[in-house]
Amino acid sequence: MADIIQLLPDHVANQIAAGEVVQRPASVVKELLENAIDAGSDVVKLIIKDGGKALIQVIDNGIGMSTTDARLSFERHATSKITCAEDLFNLSTKGFRGEALASIAAIAHVELLTKTETDEIGVQLKIEGSKIINQDPIVTPKGTSLCVKNLFFNIPARRNFLKSNQVEFRHITDEFHRVALAHPTIEFHFYNNGSEIFNLPKSNYRQRIVNIFGGKTNEKLVPVIEETQVLKISGFITKPEFAKKSRGEQFFFVNNRFIKSPYLHHAVVSAFEGLIRSDNHPGYFLYLDVDPASIDINIHPTKTEIKFDDEHTLYALLRSAIKHALGQFNVVPALDFEQ
Ligand code: ADP
Ligand code: MG
Repeated sequence: MADIIQLLPDHVANQIAAGEVVQRPASVVKELLENAIDAGSDVVKLIIKDGGKALIQVIDNGIGMSTTDARLSFERHATSKITCAEDLFNLSTKGFRGEALASIAAIAHVELLTKTETDEIGVQLKIEGSKIINQDPIVTPKGTSLCVKNLFFNIPARRNFLKSNQVEFRHITDEFHRVALAHPTIEFHFYNNGSEIFNLPKSNYRQRIVNIFGGKTNEKLVPVIEETQVLKISGFITKPEFAKKSRGEQFFFVNNRFIKSPYLHHAVVSAFEGLIRSDNHPGYFLYLDVDPASIDINIHPTKTEIKFDDEHTLYALLRSAIKHALGQFNVVPALDFEQ
């Protein structure tokens, strides 16, 4: 029989990989915001149109890229963030897989503008279907602008699968909240269809929560703080009387990365036992700082699930930290601990 195996061309491989990384416009927003943060930016702008279907743009004032790096950044497995597998267990960046830009460029029209501090002049690249179709030198401030248009233009099935602009917008807003809550010292602006809907100045965790969810949130928050040799828990829970029927605002961050964890969620909810009705949900904004060597982030391309070395201890510590916070609050409800 004749040989039948062949290597997939890069653009096909990229399209397939893109399916995992980019489910919807919000996935692109997440990846671009994370790249802006990894680049050390302190002002980040997000601009979207039509629920991200027409346009997603992120502009940052980070380190930018040289022309060579800019061209390379769209290759698969091209990253400046790790050099070997061991680095995975000492991560200080959001990214490390070197897949996001390659994936996005495989399924959208992309325009990149970037300049480093030391370069006199920047570069503009246009990429379509994984191919660089245009490159020009350009005068641009230090930092990077990445503009993504016509998402899934070459995968009609995926494009048709997208929900209404409103629903996609909601998903994008959720991603924006997660990133902004994890990085209160970065200034964020968010423009939707031409109007600015969030203008978040540099601040602290508490103020960032209030700036996002409104002034009334402030009185609902109870600070949580617990520190052991291996773990720091900080952040806020909402007072029991503000528990809601709907799931509401529930956020876990591990080393400033938003994660989903039904297990840790259970730890929080169980600490509220007896204080709220069982069909109500407490809100929480909890920040866990752990040794990067004690977690594995590389179990899913979107990195919202992670593996902890010692989940049981974490569960117990979290539960007791919340109980402690609730106890403090119950004994002296008038006191408000600033963090
Ligand atoms: P990863 O973030 O996993 O490294 P990406 O595909 O998201 O992979 O990005 C590839 C590389 O492009 C990054 O490692 C980084 O060097 C560069 N890069 C991407 N976005 C930016 C940005 N906004 N500013 C500076 N460099 C960037
Ligand atoms: Mg990235």
